[in-house]
Amino acid sequence: GAGTAALACRDVEVAYGAFKAISGVSCDFMPGRLYSLIGPNGAGKTTLMNALSGRARLSRGRVALGGRDITALPPHARTRAGLGRSFQITQIFPGMTVLENLRLAAQAHRYRLQPFWRGVGGFRGIALEAERVLEDIGMGSLGHVDAANLSHGDQRALEVGLALLSDPKVLLLDEPLAGVGHGDAARAVDLIRRAARGRTVLLIEHNMDVVMDISDEVVVMLGGQILAAGPPATIREDARVRSAYLGDG
Ligand code: ATP
Repeated sequence: GAGTAALACRDVEVAYGAFKAISGVSCDFMPGRLYSLIGPNGAGKTTLMNALSGRARLSRGRVALGGRDITALPPHARTRAGLGRSFQITQIFPGMTVLENLRLAAQAHRYRLQPFWRGVGGFRGIALEAERVLEDIGMGSLGHVDAANLSHGDQRALEVGLALLSDPKVLLLDEPLAGVGHGDAARAVDLIRRAARGRTVLLIEHNMDVVMDISDEVVVMLGGQILAAGPPATIREDARVRSAYLGDG
């Protein structure tokens, strides 16, 4: 067999009143692979990500993490189960340094895992974890900088770092490059690659060069449904995708 998907959804529907933002969405995200979710504005990409992370209520369908049905779990329980997510909206505390932000997130995650943890021998562990992630996101020299004073690119990198502190098996990244300048794009791609090492990643990204370069698989959405899915080379040549989305006529 093909093995168990790291994350899967079956016949998922999210409705806002009579309007179905997504419907009939089924997808398998296989372990260790990087998936990009693309499609025009309003196609339902963020809604699908919200459905997977537990932020949107399903009106129909199921979601499974590593073969375990998580449809009924709230977002924090999904995080605890190994499903991490970075946000478009910043979760960084200004007035605290980069390292303090990472330590706080590491501590919050420990507490989620082990509510009765008393910190016995643990603070050193937290400091080490924060420093490991600081290196992972290429910000080793910025640990003591106030997060409020970071460049936009560094803020986006720190957001990814905050998501990495829970060491998720599956990581959902919603436009981690949004607002990042052209010069910073290469660095952002490098960051996503590093974040993806050893885990399954689902990425929403509008930059097609980045998507085609970085993805193992591309999932194309249109009108709340999956139009096509496959490796970048296949998607690039798909006639339906080209006429519906890539702007070829
Ligand atoms: P974008 O690329 O612009 O972020 P998207 O593909 O992520 O678009 P969604 O944000 O998932 O698309 O939106 C899908 C559809 O659902 C849109 O028509 C949107 O207006 C609608 N929608 C999303 N959230 C809500 C909500 N809370 N209430 C009502 N309609 C919503």
